[in-house]
Amino acid sequence: MYPTVQNCTNCGANLTINDLRLQGCPYCQTVYPHRSMAEQQMQINQQMMGRIVQQQYPVVQQATRQLRWLLLMPILTSLLIAIIVIVTLLL
Ligand SMILES: [Zn+2]
Repeated sequence: MYPTVQNCTNCGANLTINDLRLQGCPYCQTVYPHRSMAEQQMQINQQMMGRIVQQQYPVVQQATRQLRWLLLMPILTSLLIAIIVIVTLLL
């Protein structure tokens, strides 16, 4: 059995370190303040990350488009050369 490390701020129950790992007090179900604060902070962080990703998305999209052309260029060039060679040999 774990020793009491804290008392519930709502019902005063003796809480062990194991009880504090839960979402709230196991006796009165009151959500622990540190849990609700962490949850609020997590929601704020997720909103901020979502905004950052939204702001970066057009830049990434444009870079991908440019990179695609850069990769296609040698293929298109060699195709053109092959066509010229074939046409020259046939004539
Ligand atoms: Zn309680």
